[in-house]
Amino acid sequence: MKRDQLLTRRRLLIAGTGAVGAAATAGVLTPVTGDGPAESAPAAGPQTRRPPHSSAYRLQPLTGYGPPQAAPRRTLVRREPLLRVSGRGRTMVLTFDDGPDPRYTPAILDTLAEYDVRAMFFVCGEMAADNKVLLARMADEGHVVGNHTWSHPLLTRLTRRQIRSQMERTCDVIEEAYGERPEWFRAPFGAWNRAAFQLGAELGMEPLAWTVDTLDWTTPGTRFIVDRVENGAAPGVVVLSHDAGGDRSQSVRALRRYLPELLDSGYHVTVPRRV
Ligand SMILES: [Zn+2]
Repeated sequence: MKRDQLLTRRRLLIAGTGAVGAAATAGVLTPVTGDGPAESAPAAGPQTRRPPHSSAYRLQPLTGYGPPQAAPRRTLVRREPLLRVSGRGRTMVLTFDDGPDPRYTPAILDTLAEYDVRAMFFVCGEMAADNKVLLARMADEGHVVGNHTWSHPLLTRLTRRQIRSQMERTCDVIEEAYGERPEWFRAPFGAWNRAAFQLGAELGMEPLAWTVDTLDWTTPGTRFIVDRVENGAAPGVVVLSHDAGGDRSQSVRALRRYLPELLDSGYHVTVPRRV
């Protein structure tokens, strides 16, 4: 009973933070939509594609599979990354960066599976190359894998050729292990530059940053991470967490606490889709 009261209180808190979260990111518009049930986009949009895997999940027509595309998607060159997703209803996106790491990623995947929730993993090529089985599992379970460079460098200190290599090698290993080339890119440290936007677009990737940083990389404590997510929760919010790069046990534990509470508060936790 005490727990129920707590949840109700938290529900109200989360519901009340919508305006704050929206104000913090006002003016940032994206063409991204969550694939929630309230989605108004036609089922067979221009971004239809074939499922590369034959798992049960992939065969569900959740993302509007259609005939294979004749030509690669053309991607707009942006001047700044997307910070949130748009879409009807209380849609939120969870993202996990720098992995996969066999010490933490499987537990995160387990929790997502327990609640039947899809998330995004911005992987580093060198981590993906060592943990291809985890990328295959992400594909089988419907998660979206994005490109987070090969070795997590500060792109602003690299030449264009080096940035291209960081991106391309990672696209290749993702395609090999996950079954599809990535459609999303995220710059390490959130340090974007023109070359990153241009080369990302050339490789067919949209730049996605985040709305709420859990600061989990500072290992601030599980409760802190949970609070960051719940206080930042609002429609369209993209949450940044990490499943590698250090001790991520707090991130793992925090997800187990905030995910059911977000769902309980009526949030549809999902992955964006390109429009
Ligand atoms: Zn990172």
